[in-house]
Amino acid sequence: RKLGYAIVGLGQYADVILPRFAECRHSRVTALVSGSPEKARRYGAQYGVPDHGLYDYANFDTIRDNPDVDIVYVILPNGLHHEYTLRAAAAGKHVMCEKPMANTAAEAEDMIRACRDADRKLMIGYRCRFEAGNKEAIRVVREGEIGAPRIVTADHGFPISPNQWRLNRALAGGGSLMDIGIYSLQAARYLTGEEPVEVSAMESTDRSDPRFAEVEDTINFQLRFPSGAVANCVSTYGSHHNRYRVTGTKGWIEAEPGTAYGDNTLRLHRDWQTRPHAVPTGQNQFSAQLDHLSICVMTGAEPLVPGEEGLRDMRIIEAIYRAAREGRSVAL
Ligand code: NAD
Repeated sequence: RKLGYAIVGLGQYADVILPRFAECRHSRVTALVSGSPEKARRYGAQYGVPDHGLYDYANFDTIRDNPDVDIVYVILPNGLHHEYTLRAAAAGKHVMCEKPMANTAAEAEDMIRACRDADRKLMIGYRCRFEAGNKEAIRVVREGEIGAPRIVTADHGFPISPNQWRLNRALAGGGSLMDIGIYSLQAARYLTGEEPVEVSAMESTDRSDPRFAEVEDTINFQLRFPSGAVANCVSTYGSHHNRYRVTGTKGWIEAEPGTAYGDNTLRLHRDWQTRPHAVPTGQNQFSAQLDHLSICVMTGAEPLVPGEEGLRDMRIIEAIYRAAREGRSVAL
C-alpha cells in the first residue's frame, strides 16, 4: 500500500524530493501546497497530482478533508516549520518536517506536543540516516572494526549566495549552524552513538559583509561524549566542506563527500593500510526516508528520527551558540 504525501513548499529541496516518489514502495504524492497557483498546476501535471490536491497557504487547513493525504511534508524555510507542523497535526495529518526542526528548542517542544496530542507521527528529514554510506560507517563503528571511537571530525559548509531566506534571522533561526553545521552535529552524534555532555565553540563572522548582517558565517564547535570521545566540527557559509572521519583505537573510517545527495565515498584505515571501502547498494536515501515514515504510520512503529531527535539537536545548537557567545564551554 502507498500512503499519500502533501508537499508544502515547492522550492529547491522539494525539487530533489518529488522525483524520488517514483522509487518509493509505500509512498506517493497526492497534494501540493504553493503560494503560486500556476506553479502548483505545473508541478501537479508533472507529478500526477489532481487539481483537488492543489492548495495554497491560506486554504491549507482544508487538507483535513482530503482523505488521499496521510502525511504532510514541510519543506518551507525553518521559521515556518513550527506553524505548518501545528496546522498539519490539527488537520489530522502525520508530519515529516525538514531540518533544522524549528528556530528554537521551545518551538520544537511545542511541535512534539502538538503531534502527540493529535496522536500523529512526527519525523525530521534527517536523510543521512537512510543513506547507504552513512549507514555503513555507523555499522563499521558499532561493530568495533576501528576499535573504540576516540576522535570525530565533521566538516560541513558552502559559500552562501546573498539575498535569500537563509540569511534572514526570522526565517532561518540562525546562520550556518542551523542550515549546514547541523550535518556535522548529526554525524558526530550518530557515528559515536552517544549524546554530548559538554560543548565549546568559536564563531568568526565578518559583520561588514552584507550577507551576515543577521546570521553567523563560521561557527566551529567541539563536543565531549561520555566515553571520552571528542568531536571537532566545522560549520561555515564561507567555503565548501562535506566530510567526516571517525578515528578509533584500531583505525579510522572517513567519507568525502560524506553527506551529499549522491556518491558518498568511504575509506577505511586499519593495520597501517588505507583502502577504499565499498558502500552497499540499496534504495536511495530520499525514497527510503519517505517510505520509512509511511511504514511507521502503517505499523505504528516510532520513526528512527522522530521529533525528539530534532529537539536534541536544537538543544545542543542553543548550547553551541551560548558557548560561542560567552567564550566558555557549556555543560549539557
Ligand atoms: P527554498 O527557498 O528553495 O524553498 C522554500 C519554499 O518555501 C519556496 O518555494 C518558497 O516560495 C516557499 N515559501 C513559503 N513561504 C515563504 C516565506 N515566507 N519566505 C520564503 N519562502 C517561502 O528553500 P529549500 O532549500 O527548499 O529549503 C526548505 C527547507 O528544506 C529548509 O528547512 C531547509 O533547511 C531544508 N533543506 C533540507 C535539505 C536536506 O538535504 N535535508 C536540503 C535543502 C533544504
